[in-house]
Amino acid sequence: MRIEEDVKLDFKDVLIRPKRSTLTSRKEVDISREYKFRWSGKTFKGVPIIAANMDGVGTMDMAKAFMRDGNGLTVALHKHYALDELVDFYTKKTAAAVWYSIGMTPDDEKKLDAFVKKNPGVVEKLCVDVANGYSEGFVDFVKKIRAKHPTLTIMAGNVVTGEMVEQLILAGVDVVKVGIGPGSVCTTRKMTGIGYPQLSAVIECADAAHGLGGLICADGGCTVPGDIAKAFGGGADFVMLGGMLAGHDQAEEKIVEVNGKKYVAFYGMSSDTAMKRHKGGVAEYRASEGKTVKIPHKGDVSASLQDILGGLRSACTYVGARKLKELSKRTTFIRVSQQLNTVFGNE
Ligand code: 5GP
Repeated sequence: MRIEEDVKLDFKDVLIRPKRSTLTSRKEVDISREYKFRWSGKTFKGVPIIAANMDGVGTMDMAKAFMRDGNGLTVALHKHYALDELVDFYTKKTAAAVWYSIGMTPDDEKKLDAFVKKNPGVVEKLCVDVANGYSEGFVDFVKKIRAKHPTLTIMAGNVVTGEMVEQLILAGVDVVKVGIGPGSVCTTRKMTGIGYPQLSAVIECADAAHGLGGLICADGGCTVPGDIAKAFGGGADFVMLGGMLAGHDQAEEKIVEVNGKKYVAFYGMSSDTAMKRHKGGVAEYRASEGKTVKIPHKGDVSASLQDILGGLRSACTYVGARKLKELSKRTTFIRVSQQLNTVFGNE
């Protein structure tokens, strides 16, 4: 047994120090980024915020809303669309706005192969998502996918430490997804005791990735727009959002009414709910590592996004970053013991 004494930080442990700035309005801030991916050689230009590949968030309706609003965000589609639905969806010139998601199962791989065979060159971006990116075989799986699809932009994870980020990038990953345990409907930390404070994971993993010309996506744990600014400030190239984008019209979920109030169910992708829905039940050898919650229906996603993107622009203004690209260079985190004044509640 060993104890690491360094303090590791979560979003709640820090604030960003304001800096003198010549910017007069948040309208002057450009929150889009341009990246050239290390392996695929493709470029990305847009707002580097990704809707998580979860039921209720990574939906085709979400992608349609993002395209309708022209906001430059992308959606990692959840894994449970049928091949026909995916083929039909991709014919509508949606490829730039979405990440096709797979896990490590032979079924997912077969579905991707079938898709690519039918529609060569159509999928641009792939998200290979497993709960535990440290499992043996994951690196080999990624290598195999890279060898099969040399021009595909591959995002893969999740991991939380620099050495694993490096290994994945060298294995062919363009964007490493970072985060174990911080998610809003994740119970991994509770069930297993495993995890890593998310802001430190982002800072350390970004450093490792950038040293090799790779990128990272901070996945999980953002609860308010300020957390997104902290993730970018810490060096994240992309930020993935689940809970913050859940509960909208675009969830493709039933809206239920309780005592005159509208709610939408939201659940972790390894929760009982997800396993019952997609796999016919929780396998005996594994515990559920996600929970199911009922969240107030939030209407169309564009209103929430106005808040989220407005908060990010404002953060850039406070530190004098004219572009999102400058935010991390201009970020000084200060450690705090309190974030919010809660005298009138926690909102
Ligand atoms: P959020 O933005 O809601 O805090 O976090 C979203 C992320 O939580 C997802 O992108 C995914 O990485 C993670 N996640 C989703 N479902 C589950 C689950 O059932 N268990 C765990 N451990 N993590 C989950």
